[in-house]
Amino acid sequence: MIENYVKYLNIITEKIERFFAKQKPYIKCKKGCSLCCEKGEYPWSEIEYKYIMLGFSKLDKNLQERIKEKIKKVKEDKKNFSGDGRFMYECPFLIDKSCSLYEYRGIICRSFGLMVEVEGKKPQIPFCCSLGLNYSNVYDVERNCVSPIMFKETGLDIEPLIFNVSYKMLTDDTFAEGFHFNFGEKKPLIDWF
Ligand code: SF4
Ligand code: SF4
Repeated sequence: MIENYVKYLNIITEKIERFFAKQKPYIKCKKGCSLCCEKGEYPWSEIEYKYIMLGFSKLDKNLQERIKEKIKKVKEDKKNFSGDGRFMYECPFLIDKSCSLYEYRGIICRSFGLMVEVEGKKPQIPFCCSLGLNYSNVYDVERNCVSPIMFKETGLDIEPLIFNVSYKMLTDDTFAEGFHFNFGEKKPLIDWF
């Protein structure tokens, strides 16, 4: 079943990478930027969990121990969390500001950074836009929309686009059926441990 999931993953990854390439003038992602792995909820399906744990089993013991320590700490923090809303945390696979399991990362990790279409809602803009990163050259954060004036000022021909790559869409069961696997249960990454 994992092999079929990997086939699906390769196809969507290639597609998402093409979207990123198309939006290059608006994308500030680069090696060393790990803000989106430092605070999040990370929706994760069972098959994604199995896949990342396959990668984990191949890591050297020291790295495994460091990750296990981080998992323990996040679980402890979650237990003691008393704030309103969702518990946000640093992904335990982020080690020295870099993903220790990049090839095995989840689906949300692959599409995050694009402007995303969400059914029945306003398009989702990556939070890093307000930090001067993705789409910050064209997105009016105060008005919460792409600004035609800012776009004009860039002098670019390529328009900022919104893509149909929400986590919900990418983990739709109809895709899984087509590739003969199941996503299984979905919950925040930390709740798999
Ligand atoms: S999506 Fe934003 S925070 Fe994440 S790597 Fe790209 S620029 Fe950095
Ligand atoms: S799995 Fe890797 S890319 Fe995904 S949130 Fe964790 S550290 Fe970031």
